[in-house]
Amino acid sequence: MKRSSLFYARYREKQQTSAIYERSRFIREEQHWYYIDGVHLQAGRNDPCPCGSGKKFKKCCGL
Ligand SMILES: [Zn+2]
Repeated sequence: MKRSSLFYARYREKQQTSAIYERSRFIREEQHWYYIDGVHLQAGRNDPCPCGSGKKFKKCCGL
């Protein structure tokens, strides 16, 4: 049994809004969740928004 979770942080830097995401994976064994790994993702203003809306980041969560 596996579970994914998405941690999301938004920050402003030099008048630009960006976001950093960490997608972490866990595995469950004998009633305990174990952390496997985490992947850091960064979204640019013209990239598709990682929230899954299908809009560009700057027109969605990047506003
Ligand atoms: Zn979004």
